[in-house]
Amino acid sequence: MRQYAPDMTTSFSNLQLAPALARAVAEMGYESMTPIQAQAIPVVLTGQDVMGAAQTGTGKTAAFSLPLLQRLLKHENSSTSPARHPVRALVLLPTRELADQVAQQIKQYAVHTNLRSAVVFGGMDMKPQTIELKKGVEVLVATPGRLLDHIEAKNVVLNQVEYVVLDEADRMLDIGFLPDLQRILSHLPKQRTTLLFSATFSTEIKRLAGSYLQNPVTIEVARPNETAATITQQFYSVSVDDKYNALRHLIKANGMKQAFVFCNSKLGCARLARSLERDGFRTSALHGDKSQDERLKALEGFKQGEVDLLVCTDVAARGLDIKDVPAVFNFDIPFNAEDYVHRIGRTGRAGALGHAISFVSGSDQRLVGDIEKLLKTKINLETVSVEQDRSRERREPRNDSRESRGGDRSESSSRPRDSALSRDSRPREQDSRRSREVGYVPAPRIKNDPFFDKPYEAPVRSAEAAAPAAPDPLRKSANIKPKRVMAALFKSTT
Ligand code: AMP
Repeated sequence: MRQYAPDMTTSFSNLQLAPALARAVAEMGYESMTPIQAQAIPVVLTGQDVMGAAQTGTGKTAAFSLPLLQRLLKHENSSTSPARHPVRALVLLPTRELADQVAQQIKQYAVHTNLRSAVVFGGMDMKPQTIELKKGVEVLVATPGRLLDHIEAKNVVLNQVEYVVLDEADRMLDIGFLPDLQRILSHLPKQRTTLLFSATFSTEIKRLAGSYLQNPVTIEVARPNETAATITQQFYSVSVDDKYNALRHLIKANGMKQAFVFCNSKLGCARLARSLERDGFRTSALHGDKSQDERLKALEGFKQGEVDLLVCTDVAARGLDIKDVPAVFNFDIPFNAEDYVHRIGRTGRAGALGHAISFVSGSDQRLVGDIEKLLKTKINLETVSVEQDRSRERREPRNDSRESRGGDRSESSSRPRDSALSRDSRPREQDSRRSREVGYVPAPRIKNDPFFDKPYEAPVRSAEAAAPAAPDPLRKSANIKPKRVMAALFKSTT
């Protein structure tokens, strides 16, 4: 994350953090507080409820964990008795990956204290989690479903919880966790501090806050539904049949080293990942049908730079803190406009430049309209020359209607029933190679955004790193007009 210039108001020294926490913060290399930290930490230290709106990547984990740990220090002890380590703070998150990430951060902040923390999420054996819970932990990070399993199995007692954090609350509601949250909250003491963080303050979130928060202090560091100013956004009009080739072409044309590629369905995700892998891209898939182990490995591989393309469903869209992802592709336009904001939030994090490219096929106009409304900006569609290699295309992924109805409800529940994607899936022409080009329309601009005045800077070392092992037929084709394509690609940023 970008370092914030220390001043009188944002220096961590103003907080008078306990030496053990101040030491951990210094070891993390933080020089000063981020805006959400500067606003939230003093409030949480007073024990008030908080309703916070902050984009992911803003430092919100430290914004709630540091003051919680500080307040829990009075319970710190080195006893080995589990009874001396009841759960005092509960942090709930929607996905396993987020839970894991937040738990790791909390462990780092608490490293010099005797406060214990643990994480429990589904998809893993319950036994090791049970052993850890039974030893006693002060801070428990969990996904709602698995926590309920442990509550039912009497592996954990929550009657001494003093603090509860509902992180990514809007996402938890989207996923349908409301009944689980209500059950969990019914196990907690009424006298407690509740912190709710959400990317947006929708009506449902306000209702949730109304039921469970008491006179919360509202903290907003970025306007809800706002995309980072450092992300250049482009929308390409591409038929379903052409998406795959457009993706390969744009990755190479922009010399992208690493990218997230988002699909709406698990099946589409798996098929796309397979095709990219066959074409020589170092690719991993991340979706709900993958085992926990596979998901963590995929993420780790991406973080370590061993994987170039992480093809994922929205399970990966929220909050994952992977630095320096230069690009995000929306292979499918998300069904919820808010997911668009979260998906592209994987790039352009913490002041870095990012590039978000979305493929719009005939049926997606309504979804693009929703994004326009949310972002309050007009989206213009660009076109890209894409050469079709029919022999390759036969094995490429398509979002046909069968797939969209496939067993993927959990990750595409809001898919419009009357998806016109099926109309795009009509039989294809028989020619084995062809090139397409439609008129170019400039990319959407975010008003008053200085980033759009600068040329796009492709990441260094990128071209060769993402280049597929297999020869690229696009480059050799007589049909493609590289200059024109590149001009089209860069016109919006020069
Ligand atoms: P989060 O939004 O909590 O996921 O944090 C995003 C990233 O910012 C994480 O990698 C944190 O380690 C980092 N971070 C949090 N607070 C600060 C800070 N005050 N200064 C610099 N980096 C920070």
